[in-house]
Amino acid sequence: MFSRITYNRRKKKESMAEPKRNPNVITKEHVSNLPCTVLTGANHNIATTKSKSSVKKHIASVPRSLLPPLSSPNKKTVFLDLDKTLIHSIPASRLIGSRNYDFVAKPLLGCKGDERYVLKRPFVDEFLRFLSESDFEIVVFTAGNEEYASTVLDILDRDGLISHRLYRDSCKEINGRRVKDLSCLGRDLKKGVIVDDKPKSYSLQPENGIPISPFTDDLGDEELKKLMSGFFTKCHEFEDLRDAVKHYFGN
Ligand SMILES: [Mg+2]
Repeated sequence: MFSRITYNRRKKKESMAEPKRNPNVITKEHVSNLPCTVLTGANHNIATTKSKSSVKKHIASVPRSLLPPLSSPNKKTVFLDLDKTLIHSIPASRLIGSRNYDFVAKPLLGCKGDERYVLKRPFVDEFLRFLSESDFEIVVFTAGNEEYASTVLDILDRDGLISHRLYRDSCKEINGRRVKDLSCLGRDLKKGVIVDDKPKSYSLQPENGIPISPFTDDLGDEELKKLMSGFFTKCHEFEDLRDAVKHYFGN
């Protein structure tokens, strides 16, 4: 009945352990190579050698979520939503009866929150591997908070295929909605796309948005498989990925 359950004592122990340190957290070295001195928000630790007053002065003028430079100028960037795009999770308090799940993400020690039962969207592992091998920089951009999303991503991305993570505090709030603004992340929008089950999330750059249906528990779902064999195989023929999005999705 629970053929997809992988939860066991070993994984429980792993999910409670301190998360892997993300190798892409901004360091002093990154900062010294940038024109600004402070980077904040999301996955980015404040890293600076300047005085506190100098830091305060810069915070207002610096984009909150500037990503570190691309590792290669030839790479394209794909921003991936997390919930209902790559996985679906529900808190233990809402678990009624039996449910398929792949792993349990527990809150970090000292953090509030419920443990979450996480079901991976079919083909998500293959999708991440495919994008990574197709020379895409993978950035997960979620409206979820860091405490929750980081525990899920630490387990989902065991092989470290995701280059960067952007959380709720990197979203803009517009008319009470959280919107993911791709224009202030330090990436060329001609070479970037976002995959998100909520089109309103990319309403500031709809021409970069790849729609996908929300995933909850359909184990026959093939959306990620179709994106691999369709858009992400053929988009390299386009110099501007926005033209590819228009061609395949009519945005
Ligand atoms: Mg979503």
